[in-house]
Amino acid sequence: FKIKMDDFELFEELGKGNYGTVQKVLHRPTGVTMALKEIRLELDDSKLKTIITELDILHRATSNRIIEFYGAFFIESCVYYCMEFMDAGSLDFFAGCDVPEDVLARITRSMVEGLRFLKDELKIMHRDVKPTNALVNMKGEVKLCDFGVSGQLDRSLAKTNIGCQSYMAFRELEADKRCSFLPQQPERIKGESQGVVTSYSAASDVWSLGLTIIEVAIGHYPFPPETYSNVFAQLTAIVHGDPPTLPERYSPEAQDFVAQCLRKDARLRPSYQQLLEHPWLKGDVQRDVDMVGWVERGIAYRKENPKISVPALA
Ligand code: ATP
Ligand code: MG
Repeated sequence: FKIKMDDFELFEELGKGNYGTVQKVLHRPTGVTMALKEIRLELDDSKLKTIITELDILHRATSNRIIEFYGAFFIESCVYYCMEFMDAGSLDFFAGCDVPEDVLARITRSMVEGLRFLKDELKIMHRDVKPTNALVNMKGEVKLCDFGVSGQLDRSLAKTNIGCQSYMAFRELEADKRCSFLPQQPERIKGESQGVVTSYSAASDVWSLGLTIIEVAIGHYPFPPETYSNVFAQLTAIVHGDPPTLPERYSPEAQDFVAQCLRKDARLRPSYQQLLEHPWLKGDVQRDVDMVGWVERGIAYRKENPKISVPALA
């Protein structure tokens, strides 16, 4: 069936990203609660149609590691797409709460399985692996969203950002903790600085996965902007500094898993299959992990300790 704006009853805003907003909605014809994402793009209709067509590929995507896609449409210069509503929000909300090792392993395995599904079944890379793009529900499931299905959408978003790059002060990044229009992986930062366009590879997603695991464990992006005087210093640290590590309280297997993801030479990073065969994730398959309890405790903890963003540099 075709989804359209009139079908929705609108509820509260779930969040705001760099490109638009996400709202909780009720799809009246089906009675299904959904998340509706609005992306503002100044594009002609033919380009908008291309984006909708490309997004429709997602109708083929069914995996319990990936957010379900319900449909997309455009109105004027906005693209709207509807997806499964995840009632516990995104992983960044839980980052910095107590994250026991078995929970961290379960989150990681879900993400690796999701990434492998995208690569093997849809032949796409994610391109934006980070805690806000891993959603959680009260059943304790973790699913990926916002992966690069639409080349046209990715290109348009990249273009939209060129205009504001030079105006955007580094300290304004603190809310998002990473610069979404600059590459975040050593091989891609280096490529950019040498004026070569490095093609994005699955290994770059593996690097971002490593950073995401650490961020969930420590509660903030491992290269926090407030410790660097500008974005170039931050990028230099990613390229030339030692890769970040998981806190000591996690086991040697967990440490090794993250270190493998964060090999600076992209060619040395493991494939998804190799990651799934890593002892740390093999161990997770056999374990009974109380994810529901963890989500409940995390929500209670955040009620007492709301997430506050790091104050910007003076
Ligand atoms: P960026 O713009 O760099 O991708 P982002 O991922 O934070 O950053 P959005 O993708 O616009 O931005 O999402 C904004 C917020 O909305 C997310 O942080 C998440 O908490 C929430 N959100 C997104 N999709 C859903 C969903 N399907 N169900 C519940 N909450 C969601
Ligand atoms: Mg997102």
